[in-house]
Amino acid sequence: MVVFVTGGSRGLGAGVVRASVEAGHDVAFTYHRDKDSADALVDEVAGKGGRAVAWQLDVRDPEAVERVADEVIDLFHDIGAVVSNAGIRRDGLAMNMSDEDWSAVIDTNLSGAFHVARAFLPNFLAQRNGRFVFVSSIAKDGISGQINYAASKAGLLGLSAALAKEYGRKGITSNVVVPGFFDTDMTRDSIGTTVGAFVDQFSPAGRKGEIPELAQAVLFLTSPGASFVNGQSLGVTGGLDWGP
Ligand code: NAP
Repeated sequence: MVVFVTGGSRGLGAGVVRASVEAGHDVAFTYHRDKDSADALVDEVAGKGGRAVAWQLDVRDPEAVERVADEVIDLFHDIGAVVSNAGIRRDGLAMNMSDEDWSAVIDTNLSGAFHVARAFLPNFLAQRNGRFVFVSSIAKDGISGQINYAASKAGLLGLSAALAKEYGRKGITSNVVVPGFFDTDMTRDSIGTTVGAFVDQFSPAGRKGEIPELAQAVLFLTSPGASFVNGQSLGVTGGLDWGP
């Protein structure tokens, strides 16, 4: 199978790339700015006898998404799973949130996921097979200081549910993973703060997640074993399903 991962160069996305390769899949993944990390991951996978190819992509740009999807399909033909993982944070209280920060997060996290899904649907429909997995967050239920991020992550639930209903009869599934707190570049600035302490204190697991734990949940949703799982969301949170 071929797995396409947006934002596969670092963090959770790179974990999905590694887990997919270990499961025997070929991987096409994208990065935005960090070409060095993307190239290093391609080399790492090749060194283990796997195949991963990286594309530069800004998921906010619908034409670029269409072009990259066409190139990925030209190279790999049938894409088995699309993991929409690329995302950013631009935190701030609602009353101080600039239009720029609002739009940057909604355009990347939500509109970007829509651009990607729309670009790969024709391939999925032609095969009458395909798995969409969207990476949301426990912020979907609202976290103070993240109104833009929370709205974008809640939006992914509706987006995925609509895809599940529109294309379930065509052999396509669409599901969401809802990560709790993982140590990545995105969250590192929070770890020494009250947010990090909150996770350690209140998580039933008593710790943050390990990246492979999230990747394995994504992999399950792309696997044959998940063929009847559609329109669902899977929390990968260690039991901590809310934030302050
Ligand atoms: P990360 O380490 O900051 O990685 C973000 C990835 O998204 C990078 O590959 C980045 O590319 C890519 N990206 C950023 N803007 C993009 C754009 N405009 N177009 C295309 N790609 C773009 O973040 P992470 O922690 O792994 O998060 C991955 C996903 O999980 C995000 O959607 C995030 O919201 C979600 N999530 C994370 C956590 C957590 O605890 N870490 C919890 C809940 C949800 P470059 O490398 O080129 O910059």
